[in-house]
Amino acid sequence: MRVRVLGCHGGETPRHRTTCLLIDERITIDAGSVCRSLALDEQVKLDHMLISHSHMDHVKDLALLADQVIGRRAQPVVLHCGPETAETLSSSYFNNYLWPDFTRIPSPQAPVMKIDVHEPESSFRIPPAGVVASTTPAKGRRSSRPATSRRAGASRRPVRATTRAKSSTRSLEPLVEGEYEVRFIPVTHPVESMAMIIRGATGSILYSSDTGPTTRLWQVANQIPDLRGMFVELSFPNHMQALADVAGHYTPRTLATELKKLKNRDEIPLFIYHLKPTFYEATKNELAGLHLKNAHLVELTDEFTF
Ligand SMILES: [Zn+2]
Ligand SMILES: [Zn+2]
Repeated sequence: MRVRVLGCHGGETPRHRTTCLLIDERITIDAGSVCRSLALDEQVKLDHMLISHSHMDHVKDLALLADQVIGRRAQPVVLHCGPETAETLSSSYFNNYLWPDFTRIPSPQAPVMKIDVHEPESSFRIPPAGVVASTTPAKGRRSSRPATSRRAGASRRPVRATTRAKSSTRSLEPLVEGEYEVRFIPVTHPVESMAMIIRGATGSILYSSDTGPTTRLWQVANQIPDLRGMFVELSFPNHMQALADVAGHYTPRTLATELKKLKNRDEIPLFIYHLKPTFYEATKNELAGLHLKNAHLVELTDEFTF
């Protein structure tokens, strides 16, 4: 599994790009910096995008990407996300007001983008390149949670142009090269936010998504036998702890506490991302003060092989 960093910050300046990781040139985790970081021919190669949550720093490049790959792909780009994120993308983003509904353009039968909804804790397969099926359901339990979950008090349009992907508990069946199994784990954030475990033929990686203190993700991490690396968010310095708690983010202090929930922390490489540009140096210095073993502050253009 090759991971190329396209964006690794919690904001944008000429020196900072919002979160986006590229796997094997055809899958992204989030969509913060797809268009800034990839040439047009590279953008056209994207088949699957794992969208952790609906916040703008993680979805903003979906808009321009849809516009730029139209007419250049035989299959839609599949956006994999949880139920609330799917609803937000449909009702508040590709809604023909903020941006055209590219899940129905150029036609509902052959759109530029397709939204696949996955339940929390479910797993789904991404087939190798060249295999047409958008997702392959793993075997096992299927969740019965409804396709749309409306937030109390919110006036929202119905979800449309979404396909309910079949999903199940994690399977440990072997994977061929280029095939992936993804498991969404809900974490702590003001909106639905899905951490994810991405298992490939050579092992698994963890992506925390935006989160405040959480428990379930670390329980799951402790049960993964082939965990090769963990991408974990860090957003604010310690003096912004109150804001970090309200906004569902980590400070170095939170990070240190959270990492104690892991059994074999020092043996698993840790990749820190999502620092806010405004507080970058302060946060970086406090992170260094934790003296974490086997840890790396992710930088733009970093590339890793797992
Ligand atoms: Zn974010
Ligand atoms: Zn967020």
